[in-house]
Amino acid sequence: MGAAALPAGGLATRRIALTIDVEHPDRPGSRPGATERLLDLLGRAGVRATFFVQGRWAEAFPATARRIATEGHAVGSHSFYHARLTLLSDEGVAADISRADAVIREATGVDPRPWFRCPFGDGSDDPRVLEAIGQLGYVHVGWDVDSDDWDAGRTATQVAATIRAGASARPTSVVLLHGWPPATLRAVESTIRVFGREGATFVTIDELGASERPAGMPAEAVSLA
Ligand SMILES: [Zn+2]
Repeated sequence: MGAAALPAGGLATRRIALTIDVEHPDRPGSRPGATERLLDLLGRAGVRATFFVQGRWAEAFPATARRIATEGHAVGSHSFYHARLTLLSDEGVAADISRADAVIREATGVDPRPWFRCPFGDGSDDPRVLEAIGQLGYVHVGWDVDSDDWDAGRTATQVAATIRAGASARPTSVVLLHGWPPATLRAVESTIRVFGREGATFVTIDELGASERPAGMPAEAVSLA
């Protein structure tokens, strides 16, 4: 898989998948319009990202959800209620994800399968949850760089530094971001500028080989995903 990723000429290029969980902005510090501004920025920069869309968010913001797809970004599911899947029965997981399927498809116009991100990453190491997700045609996508953008106490500069350190340490990285925190926009702007200057390629999750897609998350992660 890795070999196929090398560009013509054979020189290895750092590849970065920006993955953005878009969810109901009922979090401390969230600001209206943050996801729209992020889409504006990605569009200006010509960077495509992957958005894991929460069903409840897509129901509330269908026009923004539609933009994600029409502007060429990859779409995955981030469940409907953003519940911890380990707390749900198999039937509960199926009901939640199926409801998300329907509203994400309706809002974005595309099928989010096979990409799924467990809320909080919870269940990503639980065979029962993974089996339930798989039955519905999904595979969980974790991350290997946690931007910690959800932490309202962190500035955009700090978030950008975290991304830079993490993405510099590996040839391919999947970066966890969110659609609502105020620090995310400038952090992503800085990331695109810095790594773009170094010749990195920004990719969507479907452009990565299976071995490049982290199933879990960094061991030290204490993330609000
Ligand atoms: Zn989330």
